[in-house]
Amino acid sequence: MIPEKGPVDIKIVDPSVCFYCDTPELNLEEKYCHHCGFPQRGDETEQRRFISQKRIDAVSKKYNEKTVNNAKWYLYAIAAISLISGAISGNSTIFLILGFFTAVYIGLAIWSVYNPFAALLIGLLIYLSLWLMDVVVDPTYIFKGILIKLIIVFGLIKGIRDARNNQRLSKDAA
Ligand SMILES: [Zn+2]
Repeated sequence: MIPEKGPVDIKIVDPSVCFYCDTPELNLEEKYCHHCGFPQRGDETEQRRFISQKRIDAVSKKYNEKTVNNAKWYLYAIAAISLISGAISGNSTIFLILGFFTAVYIGLAIWSVYNPFAALLIGLLIYLSLWLMDVVVDPTYIFKGILIKLIIVFGLIKGIRDARNNQRLSKDAA
């Protein structure tokens, strides 16, 4: 395996075994490893470029995972805010409705571990529709708690974007 950092000594002892991913029985007629795309028969500049690109991908993947994980906490925050708003509304119908959304958001937060892109996207769409409904009921609601709402919306959008980037990076790595 190639270390994550530091200099790499590219010495290909057996040309039929991929230097990068160790896949054996490579077709010696082909320049690139059929498994990982490493330019096994390319020159050293290409090989070094491939390795540094993989390292950059690994670093951005780690960074993305952090924002995706943060976005999960926004879903929990929405769940908590719904529950508290329902509890202080003093209206049992509102409490039931908001209690339902609390459950939905807890479910989305749990699901986001498995499919962050879909869970965060659905979470954002529901959140925006609820906000819109509030505003239709009472236009002054557009500014109610707007700072928290914007933080949540931008946090979710960032998470969605980075979850999608990670899907792409994982596909490239496969
Ligand atoms: Zn390979």
